[in-house]
Amino acid sequence: MRIAVIGAGAMGGVFGALLSQGGNEVWLVDVWREHVETIRRDGLWVQQGDGGKSVRINATTLPEEVGKVKLALIFVKSYHTETAARTAQQLIEDDGYALTLQNGVGNAEKIGEVVGLQRVVAGVTLHGATLLGPGRVSHSMGGPTHIGWLDGQATAELHELADTFSQAGIHADVTENVVGMVWSKLIVNVGMNAIAAICRLRNLDVMRCLDSARLSELAIAEAVEVAQRKGVNLIWKDPQKECRAAYLTSSEEHMSSMVQDALAGRRTEIEVINGAVVAEGRRLGVPTPVNETLTLLVKTIEQTYNRRADAISGGE
Ligand code: NAD
Repeated sequence: MRIAVIGAGAMGGVFGALLSQGGNEVWLVDVWREHVETIRRDGLWVQQGDGGKSVRINATTLPEEVGKVKLALIFVKSYHTETAARTAQQLIEDDGYALTLQNGVGNAEKIGEVVGLQRVVAGVTLHGATLLGPGRVSHSMGGPTHIGWLDGQATAELHELADTFSQAGIHADVTENVVGMVWSKLIVNVGMNAIAAICRLRNLDVMRCLDSARLSELAIAEAVEVAQRKGVNLIWKDPQKECRAAYLTSSEEHMSSMVQDALAGRRTEIEVINGAVVAEGRRLGVPTPVNETLTLLVKTIEQTYNRRADAISGGE
């Protein structure tokens, strides 16, 4: 299959490398010039555990160099989704499609506004990756991937897409409830990422402190209420229990991406995580004071990296 990966950072790099090694013609498309030049010159280094390998793969900053593709896999951060969708629109052939496995909710709809909702496949993945530097990514975690059309139809072409991923070592299933899957993953992120970022804690430490663990429950309860009012069919009966179990199986070192962003002074994906619960809650008349507070605190942190009191020396 001809595939363009739009946003070839941590996840885009790892998925692009696997799909390319699985026999597909893959192009990495990224706006980061130094990253693309390094990949073109030296290949993409994919670290895995203590080892790793250099993968030869097409990479460009110029979408026009790619030609038409069957699949545009969008792996930018959520605040770049619209721009990436315009690149996808330029690249996908008439019967092609765009796939988003990004975190948060609303990405598929944003892509759909540009390429047409009937051409958007959404999904969730348990793979994890980290960007190490220009031309270098780390594949930190594997796990299942689930993909589906937003209208829930399990078409032959969707199965073909899942097979293409599975044959490349990215085990993928077709789901008729992708909206429920995306919202269920959202709820796991809602109960952890913002709290961890504000308190600068690893996942397990959020759960060990009774007060942050209680805050997590409150944020989850609001998100579940919003999902239910929206008519989303969550994949579990007891979301609190499932979220707690997910957090408690984190490794001792595991830090959510939002903590890593906050520590590095980067923008976060808060708007499509706790912020999305607030926006949907407002639309549906469900109060979400905990998620609104978490959202406002993370947005405050994002806007004040250079003014943090603990970074200012001197004083009295
Ligand atoms: P990343 O920051 O490592 O990579 C994003 C890449 O997109 C960067 O290389 C950036 O230069 C590029 N980019 C920005 N704007 C672009 C544009 N207009 N066109 C092309 N490229 C552009 O991010 P990531 O960690 O790979 O995450 C990507 C998405 O996947 C996020 O939504 C994240 O929540 C989700 N996700 C991440 C993980 C993970 O373990 N990292 C796991 C599951 C889902």
